[in-house]
Amino acid sequence: MQKLKGLGVSHGISIGKAVLKEIHPMTIPERRIEKECILRELERLDSAIEKVVSDIDHLIDEYAFSDVDREILHSHKLILQDPELRKNVSRILDENMVGLENAVHRHFSYAIDLFEKMDNAYYAERVSDYREVANRLLGHMMGYEDDILSKLHNDSILVLEEIPVSLLTKVSKKGIAGVVAEIGSRTSHSSIVARALGIPAVVGVENLLKSVSNDQELILDGYAGEVILSPSQQNITLYKHMIEQERYRSEQLLKLVDLPAKTKDGVRINLRCNIELPDELAHVKRINADGIGLFRTEFIYIGDMELPSENEQFEQYKMIAEALKPNPVIIRTVDIGGDKLHASINLRHEENPNLGCRGIRLSLRNPEMFHAQLKAILRASHYGNIKVMFPMVSSLDELLRAKQHMNECMNELRKNEIPFDEEIKLGVMIEVPSAAMISDTLAQHCDFFSIGTNDLIQYTLAVDRTSENVTDYYNPYHPAIMHLITLIVQNARKYNLPVSVCGEMASDRDFVPILLGLGITELSVNPGSLLIIKEFISKIDSSILVDLVLDILDQITSKNVQKTIVRWRDKYGIKV
Ligand code: PEP
Ligand code: MG
Repeated sequence: MQKLKGLGVSHGISIGKAVLKEIHPMTIPERRIEKECILRELERLDSAIEKVVSDIDHLIDEYAFSDVDREILHSHKLILQDPELRKNVSRILDENMVGLENAVHRHFSYAIDLFEKMDNAYYAERVSDYREVANRLLGHMMGYEDDILSKLHNDSILVLEEIPVSLLTKVSKKGIAGVVAEIGSRTSHSSIVARALGIPAVVGVENLLKSVSNDQELILDGYAGEVILSPSQQNITLYKHMIEQERYRSEQLLKLVDLPAKTKDGVRINLRCNIELPDELAHVKRINADGIGLFRTEFIYIGDMELPSENEQFEQYKMIAEALKPNPVIIRTVDIGGDKLHASINLRHEENPNLGCRGIRLSLRNPEMFHAQLKAILRASHYGNIKVMFPMVSSLDELLRAKQHMNECMNELRKNEIPFDEEIKLGVMIEVPSAAMISDTLAQHCDFFSIGTNDLIQYTLAVDRTSENVTDYYNPYHPAIMHLITLIVQNARKYNLPVSVCGEMASDRDFVPILLGLGITELSVNPGSLLIIKEFISKIDSSILVDLVLDILDQITSKNVQKTIVRWRDKYGIKV
């Protein structure tokens, strides 16, 4: 038995047999061609592109893809249809007199190399799209037949170097037990799609392909990010038991759907969802959330090559607001920049994009884009309970300027007699330490705070939240974080300002009692965690939380903060 460690990117446990997708060592023919053959080679390229594009179209038609999947496949088509591809290949043919396969290979290798050097998460993820498109195109030209589908069964665990999204969508229709890959990150397209398709997945497993052989028995633990090779009978029994428990637990949790989130002593907590895409609305309704506490709108921007128009945005916001009325939908204006980039916004290369032109800074620099979004939000506010909030605010000046833009948009709508909610609430995300420090001032200029603990931790502890290299420094238990959150809540309380938490801390049972103890009654969590948090809240008696908070604030090390949480749970017999 051997255990390999990776990153659990899609929850679930499965036991099954390995099916290895061999990486074809595509031997690119070193063929030389004569000048008069160039035209024929280009015709071959055109017909190969046409075939692969039609394969993708076929795939889109055949399967009921979510919008995310369709976007991804669409982006593959755009790579193939990019005129630069043909132009470059033609130039390479002309300059080097090599065969078509070689020229196509050189074109893609150059692009992939370039993206890899960019040291930027957005482009890093485009690398896998380019690889996939290159493999498809070359595979087609060289006649490789991928017969992987015929080898897969319900109990197969697909083992491969990197998960191509198109393969994932195909295999999910056949039904497989899980996927494990050597390369990948939590935010890569394939991980997002694996989660959406409910396929347990572990990525980033070093030496995977060297260690696993076809048909080998595997246990895949998408929670712990582990793969056990040739497990012992004892292990199999243990994991089968865990699968049973998982099934039972989801059945139990579903019973909570219609109950309000309340502490044991009856304090009502508003439990909302964080969403990235309008597609998630159905899930939000199914689990009966108290609305949306964070709509990360940048994802509707990032998916497309073009920025969405005011009207396109309006339709989406309106649809969500109407569906969830009277519950609130808190729309965050775009937080593009940092690790989230957009093809059509020409961001200057920054050595450190997380400290660069991101979030509200970018909106303030692009008034046209900002106004389109603000007007879309305002117009949609007429149809439901919409609130708006600004990300990455770091000073009062930024907030005042953003409000000025909001006023201009309101005036324009009034002038054109377009209705909107004149009382629309305007919030600030507190996720930068400077905003936390001046929260007393900011509180006097907005209607609510939403604490973004993900970035608050990143910027307070000076640790890149996406870097695998410093994960142990990304420590939410750090006393500085406890004190900053307390400061924000205390400052908000002076002005009766509602405070919610929408960072990952709100989805973590270690921190929920502290947040409630501070008097926070609004949490916005991942849809997948909502019922778990609802259940946990129902076990807590709010009257004992003030002492917990005082105890936590006395601790001077992260370890002791963590120990205090565990000690408190043990004392009151609260199980997680
Ligand atoms: C946060 O920073 O906590 C947050 C919710 O925003 P995002 O994760 O989208 O940066
Ligand atoms: Mg943030």
